[in-house]
Amino acid sequence: MSPQRIDIDTSVCIGAGQCALTAPDVFTQDDDGFSQVLPGREDGNGSPLLREAARACPVAAISIREGQPGQQE
Ligand code: SF4
Repeated sequence: MSPQRIDIDTSVCIGAGQCALTAPDVFTQDDDGFSQVLPGREDGNGSPLLREAARACPVAAISIREGQPGQQE
């Protein structure tokens, strides 16, 4: 599977937690309930649940792009 980068738009995240529920091996929630990518999982960890988690977000705060984490467009 090609590397992926996960972007969380924290300005729209409402802390619903669907991402962490759907893909707990990639996402967690910070102390305020907002979504965070787990350390070292910025490439999605090859998780088949990653896209499902992005779809599950009620405010579409998660975007997944092909490419290495930190790579410029
Ligand atoms: S599902 Fe969306 S709104 Fe909810 S915590 Fe995750 S990124 Fe934020």
